[in-house]
Amino acid sequence: MLYLDRAATTPVRREVLESMWPYFTRDFGNASSHHPLGFAAAEAAQWARETVAEALGATASGVVFTSGGTEADNAAIKGIALAHPRGRHIVTTEIEHPAVLESCAFLERFFGFTVDRVGVDASGTVRLDEIGAVLRTDTTLVSIMAANNEIGTVQPVAAVEAMAAGLGVPVHVDAVQAAGSLDLSMRGLGVEAMSISGHKLGAPKGVGALLLAPGTTIEPLMHGGGQQQGRRSGTMDIAGAVGLAVALQLATAPSAATGRGVLVEATSVFIAAVLERVPGAVLTGHRTRRLPGHASFCFDGVSGESVLVELARRDVMVSSGSACAAGSTDPSPVLLACGISPERALSAVRVTFDVDAIAELDAIADALAEVVGTVRNLGRS
Ligand code: PLP
Repeated sequence: MLYLDRAATTPVRREVLESMWPYFTRDFGNASSHHPLGFAAAEAAQWARETVAEALGATASGVVFTSGGTEADNAAIKGIALAHPRGRHIVTTEIEHPAVLESCAFLERFFGFTVDRVGVDASGTVRLDEIGAVLRTDTTLVSIMAANNEIGTVQPVAAVEAMAAGLGVPVHVDAVQAAGSLDLSMRGLGVEAMSISGHKLGAPKGVGALLLAPGTTIEPLMHGGGQQQGRRSGTMDIAGAVGLAVALQLATAPSAATGRGVLVEATSVFIAAVLERVPGAVLTGHRTRRLPGHASFCFDGVSGESVLVELARRDVMVSSGSACAAGSTDPSPVLLACGISPERALSAVRVTFDVDAIAELDAIADALAEVVGTVRNLGRS
């Protein structure tokens, strides 16, 4: 089996699983308990906080472990908006993940917020002039993703932050796809909040983190025993926190940078091969400013779902859009926002991979050409 759907999820890395094991077995304590087992758990939680913070240029005291990226996005947007309502005005983009868009819609519905959803250009890059036009001195929050899950485009977060900082507006970055794949530093970017998720970078599903800059406070979503400085009540998942920390440590180690360079080059070669070999192939997202290991296309005249099924029959797993929208027959709002027609958007296929798959990519470009041809012929007969 060849798994080329890493933007949907990744397998847990062996080192990560091994680092978690003691916290399921020997050191299974509750981090709030006042005895040696509890102290061991609290110590592990602190190590995980420090390690996550170090990997992402953040502050250990600002790390709040969550149940994943969705919870981190909800906690950031609702949490900051409710703690600092200011003008009850939020700026985000049309191509955010539903975890962001639905959190904003919730604030509109129940708390009277106004949300400006800024558009993107054909490459999926946010229109900075539109951000400038809608930002107000009393804007509560700007929420923007570091990189898009469907089209891989990397956003100009530093430029957005500079515009927002000029007006004293806090910025939240959804870095769920980017953490571990791009060089990210909260301090370097100057943003107030960042969301990450374990299962996109070799840690398990169901663990993530919200990183807050010093001085950024949130109204908690979870009320209860006051764990994690009252920002996220609930007995902490120590094994998950340690796993997330180890996965980030591995992904951001200096040795990983070499692999990333190789992956960037391989991605560009693969994209060129697909565009050359598959008639009617169109790249979606930005040609170069995209996540390493992320290639997304439309293949005019076929349904992306049929291509996915045909490739799956050959034991190759890809996605026909984002996993969150899977099962939906509607064209992807992200592709529509890029100006792609609904018909073309339904032909979308996303191929996401890491260095281990590089040797197979040339054959995959051929397989795509063959499969797209087969599906087109079936459509004609
Ligand atoms: N944000 C982005 C950009 C994502 O791609 C995803 C998941 O695909 C999420 C948020 C949600 O993360 P999780 O699956 O950990 O809830």
